[in-house]
Amino acid sequence: MSRMVGIDLGTTNSLVAVFRNGRAEVLADPRTGSRICPSVVRGETDGTVTVGEEARKGRVARARDTVASIKRLMGKTVAEAERLTTGLTYGVVDGGDGVPRVRVADRLMTPPEIAALVLRELKERATLALGEPVDRAVITVPAYFDDRERQATRDAARLAGLKVARLLSEPTAACLAYGLEKIPKGRIAVFDLGGGTFDVSILKVDGGLFEVLAINGDTKLGGDDIDAALGKRLLERARVDGVVFDTTLRVEEAARTAAEHAKIALSSSVSVAVALEVPEAGLRWSGTVTRDELESVASPFIDRTLKLTNRALRDAGLGVEDLDAVALVGGSTRMPLVRARVQTHFGKVPRTDLDPDEVVAVGAALQASVITGENRGITLLDVNPLTLGIETMGGVVAKIIPRNSTLPTATGMEFTTNVDGQTAVLIHVLQGERELAKDNRSLARFVLRGIEPAAAGIPRVEVIFTLDANGILNVMARDKKTGQAQDVDVRPTSGLTDEMVERMLVEGMTSGNADLEARLVAEARVDAEKLLRQSRKVVQADPTLVTPEESAQVAAVLKALEAVIAGDDHRAIRRAMETADHVTVPVAQRLMDRNIASYLTGRDVDAV
Ligand code: AMP
Repeated sequence: MSRMVGIDLGTTNSLVAVFRNGRAEVLADPRTGSRICPSVVRGETDGTVTVGEEARKGRVARARDTVASIKRLMGKTVAEAERLTTGLTYGVVDGGDGVPRVRVADRLMTPPEIAALVLRELKERATLALGEPVDRAVITVPAYFDDRERQATRDAARLAGLKVARLLSEPTAACLAYGLEKIPKGRIAVFDLGGGTFDVSILKVDGGLFEVLAINGDTKLGGDDIDAALGKRLLERARVDGVVFDTTLRVEEAARTAAEHAKIALSSSVSVAVALEVPEAGLRWSGTVTRDELESVASPFIDRTLKLTNRALRDAGLGVEDLDAVALVGGSTRMPLVRARVQTHFGKVPRTDLDPDEVVAVGAALQASVITGENRGITLLDVNPLTLGIETMGGVVAKIIPRNSTLPTATGMEFTTNVDGQTAVLIHVLQGERELAKDNRSLARFVLRGIEPAAAGIPRVEVIFTLDANGILNVMARDKKTGQAQDVDVRPTSGLTDEMVERMLVEGMTSGNADLEARLVAEARVDAEKLLRQSRKVVQADPTLVTPEESAQVAAVLKALEAVIAGDDHRAIRRAMETADHVTVPVAQRLMDRNIASYLTGRDVDAV
């Protein structure tokens, strides 16, 4: 059986971890030593794609080809995605099927396809690090992700060749990582402020059993917002200092990147020098940013996190004084201001003993170890993030499984008909917190037939909602008199149909081959051009070393090599290189011998 890993598929960064030798550890990329893989993808002119650190580093210079924070678009409609990408360096186009597309190199890709590139990179990294195949994963998602967003994540995994053993909400993963099951009885807040998202969850722990009491958060709140706000402030300061420049995408991106560097530096120093330089837009500015200035910019965002925290506490029926522990997760919780404000708010020193970047991935690996049976020490309950119900008379929602119910769970409710002699009822399954059906997300519709005709209000139709540990909903409707029943598994959809995913898999495979071919051609060209240059240098170095036949032969093979370099058959290029080698190597050998001899006798040598 292949290895199951834990993956934190983050808005800013992603990580992969594994449980081995009795503990969970984040895997470093054996090629680079890096444990963090930026969730950044860049399309190249030759049609290939660069993923991770290299794509992140080139974000400013290649802003238009770079796609970051794709997680924000997972499972979103075109209209939602359009709103979300305002202000980003890339835009979306309507795929004509309700699913947004983003341009990557010369292809238009859906968000799950782009996320799959990051997952594939993590899968490859894990396979290399472990030296064995990896094809199953526990993947974490924000607590707030709805069905579509969760399903989009599953689609991405499938496209990357990974089976999802479980989608786990990030705060729950964090609790596992902190080993909070060791608290005999208590209540915990997990405060997770990353690059792109904020999640807070309130948990109860009792005898090694977790129960999530409430969750809250914002999928559009994080360190990125602080970078954007500070970046804007830097550009304003440059203007105030009299610098005249165009506000191009590159300028905005440069300001944002400089702001992030300054922000990170200001977690350990109180002031930092910042330089902005985008000559083609006329921007050249430098100045000093203090921690106070950063904190005044960041403060409104932190206020918002605390407001959401209060809401979660209210949902859980608790006050801050009821909490026994507060755990911090996410890179942005390294900011001293965040730590200080959280500490003041909760009246408690927060737990920061784990690397805030790695907590979620470690928790995912622990969950994987529970599923595979390698780790029997943990029992974990998850929670239903949004209320589930059905539409009743007048378009009103009857709530059947309330938000924050512990999974697995099953609840039933009785309904009746509203027309005399009615023999069928429409069951419309909804998800969301709003009172009217039209304001909630429609998950499924089905008809229960075979109701015995009777006066309105007499038949008793029982509807039972069953949510399994993975959050998959089954809805069963039954006429209590006749026993006639109908049920559906409500399969969430991300907007991608099964056929679309299949097609993407096939396209991915073919374009995977195309990508590989393109790379082989590019590499062969570079090698062949080098050989061409060296061979010419050799024959020109000393014409007396070459016979006229050899000279003609060399000219012919080099000409042939030049011709195949122009084409795109890497095998032909390699073959031509071999032929050229045959002819030029003996000449090069002679030149080298002569050079050595000259060196030994102290004469000038030709450098090749
Ligand atoms: P995550 O999404 O958890 O990977 O967090 C990434 C966010 O954490 C980004 O916005 C980073 O700028 C931010 N971050 C990372 N290190 C620090 C630091 N030392 N101080 C402040 N923010 C940081």
